Amino acid sequence: MHSQLCFKSLFEFCKCSLHTHLTKDIPIVDAHCHLDDFYNNQLFVESLSTTTVRKVYAISNKHKYQNWNKHLYNSCDNLHVYESFGIHPKFIPEHDLHERLIQLENIVNSRVNSLSGRPIVGVGEVGFDETSRYQLIDQKLALERQILIARQTDLPLILHCRGYSFFRVLFDYVSSLLPSNHPIQWHCVKSDSDLTVIDNFISYFSNSIISLNGATTSIKDIDQDKVFKKWIRNHPHILNHLVLETDCPWLCPQGLSIQRYNPCTGIFITSKWVENVLRAPGKNASTIVEIANDNANKIFRF
Ligand SMILES: [Zn+2]
Ligand SMILES: [Zn+2]
Repeated sequence: MHSQLCFKSLFEFCKCSLHTHLTKDIPIVDAHCHLDDFYNNQLFVESLSTTTVRKVYAISNKHKYQNWNKHLYNSCDNLHVYESFGIHPKFIPEHDLHERLIQLENIVNSRVNSLSGRPIVGVGEVGFDETSRYQLIDQKLALERQILIARQTDLPLILHCRGYSFFRVLFDYVSSLLPSNHPIQWHCVKSDSDLTVIDNFISYFSNSIISLNGATTSIKDIDQDKVFKKWIRNHPHILNHLVLETDCPWLCPQGLSIQRYNPCTGIFITSKWVENVLRAPGKNASTIVEIANDNANKIFRF
């Protein structure tokens, strides 16, 4: 599928005969990534540093408390980084959860990371994970206070959920603690998500968004994939709730080498996938990126 895309157009104006170009000057908003883990990608940093046609806005999730104090210097003027802080259900502190939650509350309350100078625009990623070595009861304990921090700061909550049966539990838990107008991003929705719960989530929370990434584009189970595509196509308001993300450096799209994987290539591939699935007049990869950018701007307010 990537052969349909002109990656050159991500960083320069191009009129080659490949099928799809990303229109120049449309910024790329990566609504969920982990800069701490991928900023060593030299190819990306060099391409973005020298381009005159693209800016990238990235929401970098600092989801490991061990890295809250780690700061990567960013010298690229075309890369604008915003941060979220949280305790991921796979990385729950064993001995000092209470102290870490107080630390998290203090960091988030200040609204700016004092080390990086970057604005803090969300709480997360947080949620439930069936592959975590922590019991659901312990995951709930870590999650509850973080939901309350999001509520008290009025910052978007960024949800992570792995495990089909956990989707309902997560939705019920979050909706019991947050008002229905609270901004929430359900990150990494894909073919094995509980789509009934995602429907409930979108209709219950008026300021909710879901985010798609490279994992959306890989086919693991053909039937599940068909159901997911049909769900997207038949969902009349999906574009009002859609943002694009990569989870970079994780979830590299199938068929793309890890060296070429970055917020630009990742978002471009996912936007083309959405175009192909929707097959809606006037909705090409570039317009889908623009719509997703607007939605991300509305919720993260940057
Ligand atoms: Zn081209
Ligand atoms: Zn993530």
